[in-house]
Amino acid sequence: MVKICCIGAGYVGGPTMAVIALKCPSVQVAVVDIAQKRIEAWNSDKLPIYEPGLDDVVKQCRGKNLFFSTEVEKHVAEADIVFVSVNTPTKTTGLGAGKAADLTYWESAARMIADVSKSSKIVVEKSTVPVKTAEAIEKILTHNSKGIKFQILSNPEFLAEGTAIQDLFNPDRVLIGGRETPEGQNAIKALKDVYAHWVPEDRILTTNLWSAELSKLAANAFLAQRISSVNAMSALCEATGANVIEVSYAVGKDTRIGPKFLNASVGFGGSCFQKDILNLVYICECNGLPEVAEYWKQVIKINDYQKNRFVNRVVASMFNTVAKKKIAILGFAFKKDTGDTRETPAIDVCKGLLGDKAELSIYDPQVTEDQIHKDLALSKFDWDHPLHLQPMSASSSTEKQVTVVGDAYEAAKGAHGLCIMTEWDEFKTLDYKKIFDNMQKPAFVFDGRNVVNADQLREIGFIVFSIGKPLDA
Ligand code: NAD
Repeated sequence: MVKICCIGAGYVGGPTMAVIALKCPSVQVAVVDIAQKRIEAWNSDKLPIYEPGLDDVVKQCRGKNLFFSTEVEKHVAEADIVFVSVNTPTKTTGLGAGKAADLTYWESAARMIADVSKSSKIVVEKSTVPVKTAEAIEKILTHNSKGIKFQILSNPEFLAEGTAIQDLFNPDRVLIGGRETPEGQNAIKALKDVYAHWVPEDRILTTNLWSAELSKLAANAFLAQRISSVNAMSALCEATGANVIEVSYAVGKDTRIGPKFLNASVGFGGSCFQKDILNLVYICECNGLPEVAEYWKQVIKINDYQKNRFVNRVVASMFNTVAKKKIAILGFAFKKDTGDTRETPAIDVCKGLLGDKAELSIYDPQVTEDQIHKDLALSKFDWDHPLHLQPMSASSSTEKQVTVVGDAYEAAKGAHGLCIMTEWDEFKTLDYKKIFDNMQKPAFVFDGRNVVNADQLREIGFIVFSIGKPLDA
């Protein structure tokens, strides 16, 4: 029986390993983490992450061939294949701070693997890492291994939160990069055999290590760039009377471009896009390619611009001040069908409004009150002072200005304005007449995701702003 161990039971490690366990009944899978609470949650009825379909997959295999454990060393020692799916956030201090990937979690995992291994293993990079990380990992493993042989593979994960299970069941592609030596090719084959249980052969791509590592950064950069492109266009639409939904549709009909990922919005979020582009920028700079670095920087700059534009629109529309005005924030997660708030645009928008002394009433179906308060206590990303994620000073504490409530109607009660920050399906079917009747007048809606029917809302009496459309359209 092949034994797999995955270090890191997060948004990637948990779902990917659950699907491998489900699809490969002959493989034993252990997902290990140093975070005891997270492991306890994986072993309970309330999983640590919300992901449609995940509960069902975990229930089918947990205790059979899928195990969650804090006994990291024991499971690593027993495994034939060790996936490493630890977090690789942006460095906050030292060389490359604000851009480079922080590989300390990866390095300590690699040192531990070398330390506890008594048999040869395949070590798989599942985390998103800078190109050439495998070279560093190889050095750490071989210099600490007491003669044990390791093969490193790059197998980046392309799942999207909110559709992770669907993406894992039916991936566009599985990418495996390895050394071109016979040992490297054998390792690639061993991992291919795992995926071949359910992924068609023509969707399993094999490349050299550096292509696989760089492909993940490139894919995220291209995806984020599409969003920034359409968002840049949305600003021009608002200025000229064009409608970004019509423009995106027309552009996306070109088969060379395609219709996906062309929705204008308040901006992209999530733990990956910004982090991976910053990392790409850093790698370009380190490789003497400042022009290429500048090109990718623009993707993030437009994203920041879009969030600022949204805040400015809210404040300007509400007679140039939101001081002491209640504003309902519908949705806080960075996208629908997840409770993840990492880098969500809602954070920057809320902070912008709080900076103008608004009082916020926030509702999200999956994000907890604690998480929202925690997120709003962190300072904003800043190119000039890239040490973001520093706690704000006590005097700028926003707790008194923020209330977290249990539904959209409560959030909107008595509010002057309503901002839709996440495209949760339930926001499409709210009783907006009831909401309007309970709001201050004039009642404003600022739709950061283009989810409401603006014409219907205007008939009710709302003043509506939708991204990429003129205010009075
Ligand atoms: P996460 O923070 O949810 O999970 C990482 C886990 O690793 C944490 O639970 C942490 O406790 C654990 N960990 C860290 N060091 C450890 C160690 N030495 N031993 C044991 N456990 C350790 O992160 P995530 O969202 O799952 O992302 C993991 C990686 O996958 C990142 O590199 C990310 O860029 C990449 N990725 C994420 C997504 C996504 O949608 N979240 C998609 C594709 C790729």
